[in-house]
Amino acid sequence: MLAVILACIGLPVTSIHGAAGASSLVHGAHAHAKSHGLTGPWAAIAHPQEPQHTDRPTIRLAITVDDLPGGGPELLGYTPVKIVKEIVATLRAHHVLHAVGFVVGSMLDARPERREAMDAWVQAGFAVGNHTYSHAKVEELGLDGYIKDILADRAVVDPLEQRTGQHHKYFRFPYLEEGRTEAERRALRHVLAAQHYELARVSVIFNDTDWADAYLRCLARADDAALDALRQSYLETALAQLSWSVAAAREVLGHRIPQVLLVHANVATAKNLDALLTAYEHAGVRYVSLDEALTEPAYGARYDFSGENILQQASQGTGRPHPPELVESAELLDLVCR
Ligand SMILES: [Zn+2]
Repeated sequence: MLAVILACIGLPVTSIHGAAGASSLVHGAHAHAKSHGLTGPWAAIAHPQEPQHTDRPTIRLAITVDDLPGGGPELLGYTPVKIVKEIVATLRAHHVLHAVGFVVGSMLDARPERREAMDAWVQAGFAVGNHTYSHAKVEELGLDGYIKDILADRAVVDPLEQRTGQHHKYFRFPYLEEGRTEAERRALRHVLAAQHYELARVSVIFNDTDWADAYLRCLARADDAALDALRQSYLETALAQLSWSVAAAREVLGHRIPQVLLVHANVATAKNLDALLTAYEHAGVRYVSLDEALTEPAYGARYDFSGENILQQASQGTGRPHPPELVESAELLDLVCR
């Protein structure tokens, strides 16, 4: 799936096939990662532009968007307000009734005009959740400071919750890091429970933020060929991750689960969400609420491993292996349009 990126930066496509050096270039932190070939019924997912008419199982999917209202570089007119409005319009066009946006209060307070982004989100009928005030890690703030950061976000999120009329309060850890030690993780779970937060864990993550900076660079150059390559690699990665998560649920948990997708409010997702959702729908996705997804016990299980998606956590906790992880694209994407 990385062939399009390699071609874009002038590397031979053959370098991704079985070459240890090229593999290590893109494996990042996942030492045992390797390319994940799609097999069986999921092979069809690799061709999102072709509607699928074969019998296929329904994939229930809840959509969540992190880092609202967004705080990346505001280049070429791609302000957080524009990005969030595009994402909202795409979700509505695909008849997504339920989505949850996780709000970082400092991003909103830094630029009050970004309230227009949250207005668009709330007016579309979507829910909100707490993503801490400053999006820091526990090691940066210490446990007490981190708890204060959770509580500080309530000043921003609580009024938004009241506007949405949602019945549940949601929390998502930045970087999916739930604490460094068992004691920290237990303390944080206690705080969240006392604040009546439901922990919104994730099963489908493909690091869409890795594409965002490359998108802005290529847009600035008006490099249409590179933009096409980015678009294709974004979609292929999103589809491959969905197929990984479906297969991982089967292999680790022994049953299908409602999946929870994590994307971010950034330019890459704003530009590609329409194609992504179309491809997912062709793959058999039916949208469900986060509330429905979280009824799956795996999202609430205490495997007591920090970070990663719930299927990786469940694999560690149960000792049952998951499929080979996907190759990460970050290092290659960082070379595009330089
Ligand atoms: Zn985040």
